[in-house]
Amino acid sequence: MTISIGILGASGRMGRMLVRQVIDDPQCTLAGATVREGSPYIDQNLTDIVGLPASTAVPSAAIVTVSAEKLLGNCDVAIDFTRPEVSVHHAYVAAAMGKPLVIGTTGFTQEQVGMLNDAGNHVPLVVAANMSVGVNLLLALVEQAAGRLDPAYDIEIVEMHHKHKIDAPSGTALALGEAAARGRGVALKAKAVYDRKGAQGPRRKGDIGFAVLRGGDVVGEHNVIFAADGERLELGHKSSDRRIFASGAVYAAKWVVQQGPGCYSMKDVLGF
Ligand code: NAD
Repeated sequence: MTISIGILGASGRMGRMLVRQVIDDPQCTLAGATVREGSPYIDQNLTDIVGLPASTAVPSAAIVTVSAEKLLGNCDVAIDFTRPEVSVHHAYVAAAMGKPLVIGTTGFTQEQVGMLNDAGNHVPLVVAANMSVGVNLLLALVEQAAGRLDPAYDIEIVEMHHKHKIDAPSGTALALGEAAARGRGVALKAKAVYDRKGAQGPRRKGDIGFAVLRGGDVVGEHNVIFAADGERLELGHKSSDRRIFASGAVYAAKWVVQQGPGCYSMKDVLGF
């Protein structure tokens, strides 16, 4: 039995990777994909959209549509890496249609997170800012390190991404901040420092600082630094290929079809 997967937002960097990942996975069939309204890819072949040779075996039943409803009606589960407001809309459509959904989009506001949780009351959703196994292990290690080291260890989180990324700090950097705050038993909201400019005065004990770099084609790099007088511990991760996110998302899709309603994380999917 194969699982039929639809890709919401096939023409993006991640969307293209996801189409390829599903085609390459013998346990899955590609139900089709959506592109946004007005996209030049409407009515084109999926192989053209994702830059695969025309000879690639894409199921003849796979559709390309602007309608999330139509795609969700044609698959067992869908994967969405688009934009926050679009993903929230997709979550509500999935909830109305009783269709499981995996969301990898980042940059949600608190209000949008609440809306995703609301949709998760009706269908199983996986929402994760980073689908890589390595990053999810890093989250667990950071929480553990922050719990063991006293607040004399200053926590700083540094991330770098490609020049096209629109949200900052990255969803993964924020998740690392949450993990560190959880380890310390504090609320990130009360400790996070996102901007430093001008005469700021000395660093406050217990702050969790963020620094953001953007440039070139960097897929994603994160470093969590625990700095004390006399030593520095650094835990980090470097992504060199988007395929790690695509394979994690497809793994999550296979997992989520077997779950009841709820808003799940990759920690749940991977059993960490
Ligand atoms: P991108 O800009 O290349 O792709 C986004 C795509 O969404 C675009 O092709 C756009 O046309 C499409 N889109 C927008 N509205 C749409 C609609 N209504 N219907 C269909 N398609 C629509 O961005 P990207 O680099 O692929 O990243 C997408 C998101 O995934 C970002 O939020 C990014 O931060 C996140 N991301 C998450 C992970 C993870 O592991 N969770 C990894 C990489 C990127």
